[in-house]
Amino acid sequence: MFLGYFGWTSTAPGILGEILTAPLNVNAMTWRTCPAATELETVVVDWLRQWVGLSDEFDGVVYDTASVGIMHALAVAREEAAPATRKLGLTDRNLPRLRIYTSDQAHSSAEKAAIALGVGEENVIRIPSDDQFRMDVNSLSQSIGADRRNGLQPMAVIATVGTTSTASVDPVRDIGNLCRQAKIWLHIDAAYGGGFAMVPEYEWIRKGWELADSIVINPHKTVFVPLDFSVLYVRDLERLRRVFSLVPEYLRGDTVDAEKNYMDYGIQLGRRFRALKAWVIWRSLGRSGVVARLREQIRLANLLADWIKKDDRFELSAQPSMGVVCFRFTGAAAPSPRPGTAARGRAGSIDRIDEINSGIVEQINASGSAYLTQTKLRGRTVMRIGLGNVLTTEQHLRKGWEIIQETADAL
Ligand code: PLP
Repeated sequence: MFLGYFGWTSTAPGILGEILTAPLNVNAMTWRTCPAATELETVVVDWLRQWVGLSDEFDGVVYDTASVGIMHALAVAREEAAPATRKLGLTDRNLPRLRIYTSDQAHSSAEKAAIALGVGEENVIRIPSDDQFRMDVNSLSQSIGADRRNGLQPMAVIATVGTTSTASVDPVRDIGNLCRQAKIWLHIDAAYGGGFAMVPEYEWIRKGWELADSIVINPHKTVFVPLDFSVLYVRDLERLRRVFSLVPEYLRGDTVDAEKNYMDYGIQLGRRFRALKAWVIWRSLGRSGVVARLREQIRLANLLADWIKKDDRFELSAQPSMGVVCFRFTGAAAPSPRPGTAARGRAGSIDRIDEINSGIVEQINASGSAYLTQTKLRGRTVMRIGLGNVLTTEQHLRKGWEIIQETADAL
C-alpha cells in the first residue's frame, strides 16, 4: 500500500546482492584495490547504456544518487564554460556570471549542484513549462539570448525526462538543437524516466538523447536496484576524468595506467561495490523481466487514471506518465467559475478544495492504511501516486483508491 514518491523497490535478488556485497567489503577506488568491482561496474554500466539506446560515445560511472551525478556533470560543464576553474577556482578572475537553465518542474538537485559548485542557486533560471508540464523552448531561447546580451555566460541546460511531480518529458531534441547551436552543455535528468526508455512503448522518450553531453539514470528508482545506485553517462567520459583525476603519491603505485580507476571520475576515493547487486538483479530478471515489471506499473497507472475519470468528484491533474498519476478532488459538478470570481464546487472555495486534497493525503498517511503524497501544480494542491514497488498489485491499488474515495467522502 506504499504509493508515495517514486515507488523505489527492492527485489529478492537485490537483497541477495546486498548480502553478498557486505561481507566482501571491497573498495572500488582503483582497479588494483578491486579488479572485480571495477570490471563489473564497467559491465553493468554498459548493459544499461545499451538497454536505453545510448550510443557508445557515452560511458558512465556509478554514484550513490542523481544529485551527486548532476553535480559532477555540471562541474565538467563549468570547466568548459570557464576553463581552468579546476586549477584557479572562480574567484578573483573577472569571470562572467555563469547561468544554468532548467524548467519550473525540474528537481531541486539543480540548485544544490549550483550551490556546491560556487555558481549560486540564483543563477539557476527556471524556465516556464507548457500545459503538459514540459519546458517551453521559446522561453529558454529568449532567456539565453537576454543573458548573453547582458554579458552573462550560459553554462548548461538541464532537460528532464520524467519530472518529479508529473513524470512529464521535456522536448529534449529541440532543447538539444538549441544547446548545440549556442554551444551550451546539455545535461539530461532521466533519474526517473531513464529506466522506462527500455520499454518499447516508451522508446519515444529517448528522442534527442544523442545531443546530450551528460545524462543521469537512477536504477534505484526504476531498474529494481535497491538504494543507492545512480549512473552518470558522459559523452567522452575523458572530459569528466580530466576535471577530477588527481593521483596523490600514496596511491601512485596503485594506479596501473592501462586500467580504469573509478576514483578518477569523481570526488569520492573509497567506493562501495555497488555493481554486484545490479549484476545479480539484472542477471536474474533479465532485460525482459525488467521491461515486464515496468509495463505492469504503466498498466496500473493507466487503470487508476480510468477509475479517476469515472468518478466525477475527481479529475486528473496531468496526463498519467510512466508510473505517476496526479489527480485532484474537485468537489464535483463545479460550475465553471464566472470571470473574476473564485471557482466554487460542492465542497466550497478553491482554497478549501486545496485543503481537502491535502487533508485526504494526510489523513490516509496518518492512518497507516496506505501512503501517498501531494504536490502543487500551477499553484493548486493535487494528490500523487507513484507506482513502482514490485509487490504492488491491482488489488492493492483498488484498495488504495477506495480508501481515497472514502476519505474524501468523510472530509
Ligand atoms: N531528478 C529527479 C527528476 C528526481 O525526481 C529526483 C528524486 O526524486 C532526483 C533527480 C534526485 O535523485 P537522488 O535521490 O538519486 O539524488
